[in-house]
Amino acid sequence: MAIQSINPATGAVLETFTETPPEEIERAVEGARAAHLAWRDRPFSERATRMRDAAGLLRARRADLARAMTLEMGKPIVQSEAEIDKCALTCDYYAEHAERFLGIEPRETDAARSYVRYDPIGVVLAVMPWNFPFWQVFRFAAPALMAGNAGVLKHASNVPRCALMIEEIFRDAGFPAGLFRTLLIGSKAVGGLIADRRIAAATLTGSEQAGIRIAERAGHELKKTVLELGGSDPFIVLGDADVDVAAKVAADARLINSGQSCIAAKRFIVVEPVQKLFLDRFTAELGARRMGDPLGRDVDVGPQARVDLRDELHHQVEESIKRGARRVLGGVVPPGPGAFYPPTLLEAVERGMPAFDEETFGPVAAVIRAKDEEDAIELANDSSFGLGASLWTRDLERAEGLAARIEAGSVFVNGAVKSDPRLPFGGIKRSGYGRELSEFGIREFTNIKSVWMAAAGGR
Ligand code: NAP
Repeated sequence: MAIQSINPATGAVLETFTETPPEEIERAVEGARAAHLAWRDRPFSERATRMRDAAGLLRARRADLARAMTLEMGKPIVQSEAEIDKCALTCDYYAEHAERFLGIEPRETDAARSYVRYDPIGVVLAVMPWNFPFWQVFRFAAPALMAGNAGVLKHASNVPRCALMIEEIFRDAGFPAGLFRTLLIGSKAVGGLIADRRIAAATLTGSEQAGIRIAERAGHELKKTVLELGGSDPFIVLGDADVDVAAKVAADARLINSGQSCIAAKRFIVVEPVQKLFLDRFTAELGARRMGDPLGRDVDVGPQARVDLRDELHHQVEESIKRGARRVLGGVVPPGPGAFYPPTLLEAVERGMPAFDEETFGPVAAVIRAKDEEDAIELANDSSFGLGASLWTRDLERAEGLAARIEAGSVFVNGAVKSDPRLPFGGIKRSGYGRELSEFGIREFTNIKSVWMAAAGGR
C-alpha cells in the first residue's frame, strides 16, 4: 500500500512513499534491539553529546523542517518554526538533566546498602499523531533515548515526510545505527509489533479508539503502555477574572494549531456576572483571527489536516446547533480546495451536545453558561476526559483550592494550558494514563529496580 503526503491547503499530492516491507520491519526491530544492548551501557555524558547534536541539527534545519511540516499537515509556518525550537530545547533539557533524574537513590533499610536504580527497558514502540508531528515524537524520544532505550516510530500515515526527517536527525546526530527507526506502516501492523518479544513497551499519542486498541493488545502481551489521548479541556472564567485578558488568551488557546491540539481549550465555562462581557470580547477576538495559506507569516488559522477530519468537525457543529446551541461565528464550510474550517463560536452549549460531550478537534469554541462557581466546577468535571484545565480568577488562594478539585492532569491559573519539559504532562479518565516530560516522563520506560545488599555471609 502506498502512503501519501497530501497538502491540506490545496489537496495536491506532494509525495508518494512505499510502505516499509515486512523484511525491513524485521531488520529494524532486530537492529533496534541490538543497538539498545550496546547503548544502554554508554555513559550519560556520551548520550548527552548525541542529544545535544540532535538539538543542533534541529536548529540548523529549522526552516526546512518547519516548511515540510506546514506543507504536510497545514500548521501555520510560524507555529511550525516554534515547534522545532521546542523540540531542540527538550533535547537540551534531557541532555542536561537525564543523569540526575535517573541517578541512584540510596534508601535506608535493614541492608548494609540499598538503593533504587533506573535501568532502561529496551525497544519502545511509539505510535504518534500528525498534529504536532515533531513535538510529539521528540517529547517521547529525547527522554527515552537518554534513558538508554531504543525507539521504533510508527507515525500517522499523513506525515511520512516528517517521520523520515526525524529518523534522519537521530542518524545524523551520531546515535548508533538503528537505535531510532521510522517505519512507514499502517495501523494494522501495530498489533504485530506490540506482540513482538523484542518490543518492550508502547506509547501512543492519539485518539481514544487507537488507545483502546493498543492498550488491549499490550494488555494481552502484558506490556506497559503510556497513553496520551484526547481532551475537552475546560476554560473556566469566574466573576472576578480579568475578562479582557481571558478573552484574548481564550482565542489563542482555542486556535493553536488551527484548533487541533489535545490541550486546546474547548469548553469555555463562564459564570453569570461576566457572561455577556466575555462573549462579546471572545467573539471580537475570534472574529479578528485570519484564516489562510499556512505558509503566510500573518496567518493564524491554516487548513485542518485532512478533509475527512474537517467534515467530521462540521458534523459535530451542525449536530450541536440542532440540539439548541446558538451559532455566533463561523460554522460554514468555505468554498474552494483544501480542508479549511473557519473559527467558529457556539453559545448556550449544554450537556447532551457534541460540543460539550465530545472532543472537537478544530477551531470550534463552545461557550457554556454556569450559574456560579460551584456549577462551573461541576460542568468542568462533567466530562469523560481529564487532560488540562484553565481557570481565570484574581483570587489566587481560591484558585489553589479549586485546582485541587478539578479533574485534570494539569491546571493552569490565568494562563493557557501548555506543555513544558519541566512539568509532567498527561491525563486522567479517557485522556489516558502515564506521564511524559520532566523526571516523571523519563522514568516511565525504565525498570525501577531495588538493590539490597548485605555483606557476604549475611549482615
Ligand atoms: P489517531 O487516529 O488515533 O492516530 C494516532 C496514531 O495512531 C496514528 O499513528 C495512527 O495511524 C494510529 N492508529 C490509529 N488507529 C489505530 C489502531 N486501531 N491501532 C493502532 N494504531 C492506530 O489520532 P489522530 O487523529 O492522528 O490525532 C488526534 C488525536 O490525538 C486527538 O484525539 C487528540 O486529542 C490526540 N492527541 C493527544 C495528545 C496528548 O498528549 N494527550 C497530543 C496530541 C493529540 P494512522 O495514521 O496510520 O491511522
